[in-house]
Amino acid sequence: MSIKIALAGNPNSGKTTLFNGLTGSNQYVGNWPGVTVEKKEGRMKWDKEATLVDLPGIYSLSPYTLEEVVARNVLLGERPDAIINIVDGTNLERNLYLTTQILELGIPVVMAINMMDLVEKEGDKINTERLGKALGCKVVEISALKGTGVQEAAQAAIAAAKEKGGQRPIHKYEDKIETALNQIEARIGRSVSETEKRFYAVKLFERDSKIADSMTQIPNVEDIVSAVEAAMDDDAESIITGQRYAYIEKVIKDSYTKKRKTAMSTSDKIDRIVTNRILGLPIFAAVMFLVYYISMVTVGAALTDWVNGPLFEETILPGLADFFKTAGVAGWLSGLVIDGIVAGVGAVLGFVPQMLVLFICLAILEGCGYMARVAFVMDRVFRKFGLSGKSFIPMLVGVGCGVPAVMASRTIEADRDRKMTIMTTTFIPCGAKMPIVALIAGAIFDGNPWVTTSVYFVGVAAIVVSGIILKKTKMFAGDPAPFVMELPAYHIPTFGFVMRSMWERGWSFIKKAGTIILLSTIVVWFLSSFSFQGGLHMLDDVLEQNTSILASLGNLLAWIFIPLGFGTWQATVAALTGLVAKENVVGAFGILYGFAEVAEDGAEYWGQLAAAFTPAAGYAFLVFNLLCAPCFAAMGAIKREMNNTRWFWFAIGYQCVFAYLVALCVNQFWIFFAGGGFGIGTAAAMVIFVGFLYLLFRPAKEEKLPVHSRIGGAA
Ligand code: GDP
Ligand code: MG
Repeated sequence: MSIKIALAGNPNSGKTTLFNGLTGSNQYVGNWPGVTVEKKEGRMKWDKEATLVDLPGIYSLSPYTLEEVVARNVLLGERPDAIINIVDGTNLERNLYLTTQILELGIPVVMAINMMDLVEKEGDKINTERLGKALGCKVVEISALKGTGVQEAAQAAIAAAKEKGGQRPIHKYEDKIETALNQIEARIGRSVSETEKRFYAVKLFERDSKIADSMTQIPNVEDIVSAVEAAMDDDAESIITGQRYAYIEKVIKDSYTKKRKTAMSTSDKIDRIVTNRILGLPIFAAVMFLVYYISMVTVGAALTDWVNGPLFEETILPGLADFFKTAGVAGWLSGLVIDGIVAGVGAVLGFVPQMLVLFICLAILEGCGYMARVAFVMDRVFRKFGLSGKSFIPMLVGVGCGVPAVMASRTIEADRDRKMTIMTTTFIPCGAKMPIVALIAGAIFDGNPWVTTSVYFVGVAAIVVSGIILKKTKMFAGDPAPFVMELPAYHIPTFGFVMRSMWERGWSFIKKAGTIILLSTIVVWFLSSFSFQGGLHMLDDVLEQNTSILASLGNLLAWIFIPLGFGTWQATVAALTGLVAKENVVGAFGILYGFAEVAEDGAEYWGQLAAAFTPAAGYAFLVFNLLCAPCFAAMGAIKREMNNTRWFWFAIGYQCVFAYLVALCVNQFWIFFAGGGFGIGTAAAMVIFVGFLYLLFRPAKEEKLPVHSRIGGAA
């Protein structure tokens, strides 16, 4: 007989850590809520009969966020045989709010109090015996991180599942409410099983329309509910919430002994500085600067130089060329391998060391708990612009890859805020865009650290500006929903976590180089080495490249980018291949400017590239590629999450137009301020700039949509 056990708990309570520990799988453990937005299943290590389902983190079973709906549907629809309710022991009171709801489902529950290592360090004590009695379920203490007690928790859950027959919750509401709930249960009739009735009755009492709609036969209970509301002078949902909290307070008082009443922990002390109103942002800026400095300019760059120089240009390329010559390989084949694949894929792989250093830095920041604080700091900033700090979480994820970032937007409850976040998240430079940044900074700006770091701030600024502009349109008007999130205690990230996180991101980077980028490289090489002019033939000189098929194609569109400063077919083609995968931009340049490499005794193609761009054009190119439509994979994610073709195209269109206008301003103003004189381009840039200012500062549309505020522990 197979058993299904669901893992439910608040965000950041350690569900995924426990899930990995119990199933031996390797799901991503994030240090901020919203990392697990889909349910995941796995087989229990000790009992292959038992399947474990990891649910997204939730604060309640009310249908406010998409995640809460996902979790609720699994719990109600699939009815697992048992639930392990994982709670954060350092934050018991808030976590128990969800517990009181889970206990009403009528499914056997085992409560696993996690983070016991931290609780014990504080010197606090939890009487599990008493807590279990008060709640009516088995309680075990665990540390998912250290692995203590997890097997016991699993076995307790399996035992509970085998007992079958869920129990009714032992918590009783105030008499008036109990009477009302019993009346409602009677009206529910037989469409719902006896053990589940309590949950449905409470939800109907709260006027939860989604639950009502899911029932085959919806009882009318409005008279009962309004009678209680009138008697207690409060709305039904608040009545229930208040009662839950009163219950929790009592339970905790009886079974939780705090050692120190008010003393501040080290974490709190660090937070006083790091999340400080004034210092928070500058600290964040400094930290990001340091991260990019280390990975792009110092350590990472040194490694990359070595890979590009001694390894590629001095060893692999000449070696291959010699080999092909002696072996007498056909000219086109050696061209394909050396000028195409090695130049293209090699240009991308050359950045692997920098990527890995960047990923290590980010993993450390994330693992120690700092990134969670940043979301908190950013919430204060974003709120001023009508966005919530929740929008910042997808952006944090987006530093790695845009695909999970777009998916992480599911944590945002207000639909319009979610759509806006989906539209703007990919402005953040993802891992795949970093090689472009490193290339442009290295080739054109002599590795200037301000250029590399600035892209991050360009991304954030683009989001803030878009946020303000979009919020003022009728489509997006409305106040942001309140933002709550657990701040986990600071801890030194484990070596394993840092390595795994680096490897996961780094490996997907390398894998892409071997697949999609390899393919694109071959196509680019072919198109750039053959010409239609005078019948299809292979070009035998680099200088003829301007007549290649690729050049003809690029020239069709290159004029579009003239105002941006990079109206060459090479840059156009590079930007276009970037839509397939952003690393392609670098790969394409490797081929298009690398041709000369062999010809001019190994001159670095960076020099060729630098000659083709003015600094203004180079930076405009960078900005354009950073902000325009993301790669196909991320566009797919946007399409899925928007779930609407018109919204999808609106998002992509917005990104491209925005990128174009900003890049145009960058190029034109740069030229003007560098003393290039006032031209028609400058005038156009001024008009665009004034347009932006107007959109930023015009009064908002007055239509304020009603925003529900979350009650209780979640607000
Ligand atoms: P989820 O959001 O509920 O899936 O939580 P995660 O499993 O992603 O864990 C959130 C954070 O808490 C991670 O940084 C974990 O390393 C940390 N964590 C999980 N369990 C424990 C524990 O028992 N003790 C301590 N100190 N940290 C833990
Ligand atoms: Mg998780």
